[in-house]
Amino acid sequence: MKSSIFSVLVMASSCVLTSTVAADTNHTTWPRGAKAAVSLSYDDALDSQLDHAVSALAAHNLKATFYLTLNSDAYKARQDEWQALAKAGHELGNHSVHHACRASLANREWVTKEQDLDQWTVAKISVEIQLANQQLQALDQQSSRTFTPPCGDTQVKDGDYLAGVAPLFSGIKVLGPPVTAMSQLAGKQLPTWFPVAPTLQQLIDYTEQAAQHGTIASITFHGVGGDHLQVDSKVHQQFLAYLDKHRDRFWVDTYHNISLHLAQM
Ligand SMILES: [Zn+2]
Repeated sequence: MKSSIFSVLVMASSCVLTSTVAADTNHTTWPRGAKAAVSLSYDDALDSQLDHAVSALAAHNLKATFYLTLNSDAYKARQDEWQALAKAGHELGNHSVHHACRASLANREWVTKEQDLDQWTVAKISVEIQLANQQLQALDQQSSRTFTPPCGDTQVKDGDYLAGVAPLFSGIKVLGPPVTAMSQLAGKQLPTWFPVAPTLQQLIDYTEQAAQHGTIASITFHGVGGDHLQVDSKVHQQFLAYLDKHRDRFWVDTYHNISLHLAQM
């Protein structure tokens, strides 16, 4: 009986502690007094990102994360340009080599037999992700970076591979709803939004929602004014201009830098 009363008291005091920390976290912990952190990322190593997104980011002096698929045509043909992004302060994130996804899910006709994650094992995907880290390190000389699983898929033939590779990264972007409380963040995972043909207002609303809650807006783009799952190039540019104009409220940085900040909170 005594011990159960004690547990209730401990639980009650830890709840108080948790809510105090959450309240502080929501309003005071981003650099320069910003209301929200913003992580922009660009998946799959696409030509349209080099052709349209990079100049827009430079024009507004904003840093982002490019999740590179290492056997993509635009990665192989334009390695110098990807390397230059790292030198300019962007992050080169790990998005594997072959971009394996589960062919058994809906709308996955494009997944080739070799790419079918349903046929892979935890060991096979883990080796590939480590290999991608080695190749990226050779390119940018960085020993720490973040990861996002291709298609958000983490189930393979013999289980879920994500926990096994998590120690290799400072943060992992996963598909998920907007973060409305920092207490929703579990481990190193950050829920992200994949907008397809978003309007400027939708992008602004998503980001303002994070500012309202003092959390993080994570947006994962693919094609910019070209390639697949596009955002219109002008909408993208206008959104970056909005973030630039409101720098006092939004801390825009690479997910790697944001993840290091989160680890210290
Ligand atoms: Zn992808």
